[in-house]
Amino acid sequence: MSTHAAEHWHGIARGLEPDTGNFIDGVFQPALSGATFPSINPATGEVIAELPRSEQADVDAAVASAIGAFRRGDWSRLAPRDRMAILYRFADRLEAHADEFAAMDTLDMGKPISLMTEFDVPDSVYAFRFLAEAIDKVDGAVTATDPAALHYLIRQPLGVVGCISPWNYPLAMATWKVAPALAAGNTVVLKPAEQSPLSANLLARLFIEAGGPPGVFNVVHGYGEEVGRPLALHADVAKISFTGSAEVGRLMFRYAGESNMKRVSTECGGKSPQIIFSDTADLDRAVEYAVHGIYGNQGQVCNAGSRILVEHNIFDEFVQRFEQFARDNYQPGDPMDPETMLGPMVDGHQRSVVERYIESGIAAGAEHRRIGEVPEALSDGYYQPASFFVNVDNDMRIAREEIFGPVACLMPFRNSDDATRLANDSVYGLAASIWTADLNTAHRMARDLESGIVWVNCFDHLDMTMPWGGWKQSGHGRDKCIQSLIDHTQTKSVWIDLS
Ligand code: NAD
Repeated sequence: MSTHAAEHWHGIARGLEPDTGNFIDGVFQPALSGATFPSINPATGEVIAELPRSEQADVDAAVASAIGAFRRGDWSRLAPRDRMAILYRFADRLEAHADEFAAMDTLDMGKPISLMTEFDVPDSVYAFRFLAEAIDKVDGAVTATDPAALHYLIRQPLGVVGCISPWNYPLAMATWKVAPALAAGNTVVLKPAEQSPLSANLLARLFIEAGGPPGVFNVVHGYGEEVGRPLALHADVAKISFTGSAEVGRLMFRYAGESNMKRVSTECGGKSPQIIFSDTADLDRAVEYAVHGIYGNQGQVCNAGSRILVEHNIFDEFVQRFEQFARDNYQPGDPMDPETMLGPMVDGHQRSVVERYIESGIAAGAEHRRIGEVPEALSDGYYQPASFFVNVDNDMRIAREEIFGPVACLMPFRNSDDATRLANDSVYGLAASIWTADLNTAHRMARDLESGIVWVNCFDHLDMTMPWGGWKQSGHGRDKCIQSLIDHTQTKSVWIDLS
């Protein structure tokens, strides 16, 4: 827990002076049309800032800046250790502005400040440092070719990478997209989500302050159709690195096919199972992780453990403990208060999406239980109380589709085969957890679950050494990890005739 009180964070938030332009060639500038859109504080409904409502012409300008910088070579052909030094300085500056970033994302999307200070900001600093350090650890190869030739492979950057990020972790997801692209020597055009645009500008400004050349890191703001689409269709963009919904992720492949067959990497949603066996060594710990796993960040998490599968002989007891722990910890509150664990939804649209899912679950015959109410003092914000369903069938929409809100489905299972079948009966495959004291069950299920990530006796533990990404319609990219840097390079074969 942070030791800062809510008033401290409100003070920092009041003192913020966010940059409000597009960032192109190292300069903040309005949209060419002059149009803007508002960024809104979801805890109060108030407008924080107006950002450029960009379109094709702004995207063209940003891509021209990025490709110009790439060809100039003062980033793409910089000695690896010099590029590394700039990214280390960049990470230091990010860390020095930690409080500003924390207050900014909380103000912009309602994430509880304790998540910002404990995860988003330190994780982003770590990501830049880790990938900076990896820059000169990625080698080419000399192959075992005929002695009459020397054949070697070198790894080179791709060119301009279009990074499209979601709103649920504004700084952290922008970082996961931008950091490997920059580390590999590419130049970047970042299109942040329109719901939470502010911290992307601070990030881009700090890159220049750290010594990054202008044009290497550009930011264009606006709506998905108006900015993301032209970016993904652009003929001078070599790769789209996308994090967001499966619905929009699917479009990225279409855009690539309709334009220049650019590379596409997608990190999409999930319906992650948390599987709890009766022999788990510490049921209280399993309950706490299950609760945090679904209600953290108001359930607006790609790997939210939204399907909680519990062995039938402890189901009733588990439900009772789950409800109690959630009631004690996830009451709606001011997101600037370090004690608050449930802030507002990102906007009114997302809140109504969640409400419609709740109605659909009730109509399908599941039993809905609400944990707490929204106090009158918070009624201007887009708050959605935490809740869960029992009597759920895995065929119901609430169990199949990503709700992206603080709503869990609790379902009993009979044995490990039944749990595996239920867990895998999903179009998604991002993450899963298994809680058991039985080594065989843990290893067998870890092998059999159709999922990019499996946790045993924990949930949501992360590290930069761990590739982040899914199976099936959760996407196929791998963020973080050294592989993410390699994925932003391409090999070149050089054949020298020695005959
Ligand atoms: P979204 O798909 O609506 O939007 C993501 C981004 O795509 C935004 O910047 C948006 O403006 C842009 N976009 C929208 N329409 C577009 C179009 N037609 N062309 C190009 N770009 C377009 O997702 P969201 O609501 O911002 O984020 C929530 C989703 O992100 C959830 O599904 C969540 O699971 C997923 N997510 C996945 C991960 C992961 O690592 N797997 C991490 C965080 C979030």
